[in-house]
Amino acid sequence: MAAIAERIRVGVFGAGGRMGATVCRAVAATDDLELVAAIDPHHAGLDLRQVTGVDLPIQLGAGPEALNQADVEVAVDFTELGASRENLHWLAAHGVHAVVGTTGFSDGDIETLREEFTRSNCVVAPNFAIGAILMMRFAEMAAPFFETAEIIELHHDKKIDAPSGTAMHTVERMAAASKEWADDPTTTTVVAGARGAAADGIRVHSVRLRGLVAHQEVLLGTEGQTLSLRHDSYDRTSFMPGVILAVRAIANHPGVTVGLDPLLDL
Ligand code: NAP
Repeated sequence: MAAIAERIRVGVFGAGGRMGATVCRAVAATDDLELVAAIDPHHAGLDLRQVTGVDLPIQLGAGPEALNQADVEVAVDFTELGASRENLHWLAAHGVHAVVGTTGFSDGDIETLREEFTRSNCVVAPNFAIGAILMMRFAEMAAPFFETAEIIELHHDKKIDAPSGTAMHTVERMAAASKEWADDPTTTTVVAGARGAAADGIRVHSVRLRGLVAHQEVLLGTEGQTLSLRHDSYDRTSFMPGVILAVRAIANHPGVTVGLDPLLDL
């Protein structure tokens, strides 16, 4: 398994993308991490400065071989599902730790990763915003004390799927924590969808609005009181503390870890 030196040598897949470029800037600005490689096939050969604004003498590589040349210990992947699957296969085969933010992995994908990551470790986290992870944990803790709950997730106007993965993951965790949800009293809806989507006894409402980034509110109610939990991501830097934490912690978490919770000791 890859050993971690004092300054962790980091490579970034998808360095030309919105998240990847933000990760490059965050890694370069972190004292105990060293950005040594950046990969993005359609930006290959370009200067890192030009693509991300990071002032390091690195040229973007076309494929994972660039990680070998730079002796990378931890690779961060924010690309797209198909590319990420291939990158992870390579990282596992070469004993490089992986921190994965790309979304869309199925249970089958995770099983494959568990089989493949035997020489190095992998963390796959659909949400790196620590505040969002805490919100889900608090919602799960609160669930047994309330009989009604609704989730409002709010995102920018370019998001094509609904409800968000985070909203559905919150529902799953709340439903696992409590089965005692009251029946919906609604007998008539004037407009279809007025009561949102029903999932495990919890209603989920999706808002799409220009100007928003990624936000979620969990509302819980019982006799005479309500509890509101809200998280707001205002820009992509909100994900960076979680990514940096994962890069630092990955060597101590053998195999495949799904979600940041185990790394936060929640
Ligand atoms: P994006 O701007 O489209 O960036 C993806 C980048 O990956 C593009 O520059 C793309 O290049 C590049 N790429 C494609 N194939 C590659 C390969 N084989 N190797 C290296 N780079 C490759 O997308 P984004 O907004 O940054 O989002 C990326 C992923 O992160 C998405 O899955 C998104 O859902 C996820 N995400 C996760 C979190 C989280 O907290 N976990 C937060 C935000 C976003 P081309 O465009 O030239 O093909």
